[in-house]
Order: sequence, then C-alpha cells, then structure tokens
Amino acid sequence: MSRRKLVAGNWKMHGTAANVTALVQAVLESVNGLDQVEIAICPPYPFLAQVGQQLVGSSLLLGAQDVCEKPGQGAFTGEVSGQMLAELDCRFAIVGHSERRQFFDDSDSRVAAKFVAAQTAGLVPILCVGETLQEREAGKTEAVLARQLSAVLSASGIKAVADAVVAYEPVWAIGTGRTATPEQAQAAHAFLRQLLAAEDAIIARDLRLLYGGSVKPDNATTLFACPDVDGGLIGGASLDASQFGAICRAGHAAG
Ligand code: PEP
Repeated sequence: MSRRKLVAGNWKMHGTAANVTALVQAVLESVNGLDQVEIAICPPYPFLAQVGQQLVGSSLLLGAQDVCEKPGQGAFTGEVSGQMLAELDCRFAIVGHSERRQFFDDSDSRVAAKFVAAQTAGLVPILCVGETLQEREAGKTEAVLARQLSAVLSASGIKAVADAVVAYEPVWAIGTGRTATPEQAQAAHAFLRQLLAAEDAIIARDLRLLYGGSVKPDNATTLFACPDVDGGLIGGASLDASQFGAICRAGHAAG
C-alpha cells in the first residue's frame, strides 16, 4: 500500500484575527489543484473556528496544536479537550511537540495520555518525537526515539497507531534553519518503522511518518523523496503561503 503524503502547517503561537483570514485565503490559492497530497493547517486555538469555516468546501484539513489529556468537560482551567476540538471539525491534534515537552513539561506519560485522549475524541494524533542536539551528539538518538514511542505504545497499544501519524522532529532542526540531511531523516524514520514493525508489520508499513525541522521549498523535494518520509510538519514556512504552497507542491509531486 502506498502512503499518501501529508503536509501539515503548525502555525505555533502566530496569527492575529486580522491576518489569519488573508493567510488562509492565500494558502487556499497557493495549494489549489494539489490533489495528490493531503494538506492540513494547525492554527492556534482561538482561530480554529474561523479557519475551519474558511476551509469548508476545500480539501484542506484542520488540526490543533495540542489537546488536553482529560476527556470531555471538567474543572481544568485553561485546557481544551479533544471533544471540543472535534466539534470544531479538527481532524488532527499534534501531541508531544518538542516545544510542549521543553517549555510546558509535557512528559512522555502526559504525551501518551494526550495521544489516547485525542483518539478517544475521534481525532488523529500527530505524535512528535525527536532528540536534542546533545542527545544526538551523545549517540542517543535511537534510545530517545524508542523511549518516546514506547511510552505511547504502552498507553495505547499498537493497534491505535493505525489511526495516527508520527512526526520525527529533531529538536536541533526546529526553527533553526538547520535541516536534517535526507540521510539523517531517512535513518530515523526507518528506525521508527522498524520498531513498530516488531509489533505489527502491516501497521508499521502503512503508518505515515512526517519529517519536521526547517523544511523549506528548497529542501522539501529531497526530503520527501526518502522512502520512509511521508510528508512534513512545517513550522515557520507554513506562515508564508507561497513557501507553504511550494512545499505542498513537492508533496504532491512526490505523492
Ligand atoms: C515545527 O514547529 O514543528 C517545525 C518543524 O518548525 P520549523 O519548520 O520552523 O522548523
């Protein structure tokens, strides 16, 4: 089975009520006709409804940048549940982004709980995993990826991975302009797929593994050509409609 490429834009904490509409309109124009790639936009929570409205009638999908590990409703001030996101027509929820892990104490076990909560609400989690520069230089990349993935597998079981996406995002490549080489990305993706294959070969084969970390129009084509790279999670470049469109075009051409 061939895995359809997915390009997801993570806007992080960017956007204003005034410029979001124009950005989405520009993205819609710039990705028009790219039917060989799945495209998603993950704006900040306050803009989800507005962006969702604008995407109606297009093939673009909506995603959230996080989700609360608690289900439904409750006394959890400041949190947003998976059910609330599903009501806003979100398809995806990013969980375990390195900025959440680094700045907001999202531990492996909390990320695993968020993964389960997203799926319970009918969302497709985009699980981010990745090593820091220090971990890579200490030769710990595979150990870190294995630890982050196995925390989720212990909570969800391998079957749940069939309805998920995993994003390999080396922390040293996020927002730094320093992209992993295609060889580094492919090696990490192959390792992740092999870990999953030990539990279920079919699920591992069909899982979409995105690469994230300074993907730009000039490196997207070579990254997406790697056999185990099934698209990208795009931060900075997703805020520029023409750059994001060019990356989506690379996904479309590779699809
Ligand atoms: C990200 O935010 O997930 C990301 C990969 O950012 P950037 O593309 O800016 O490195």
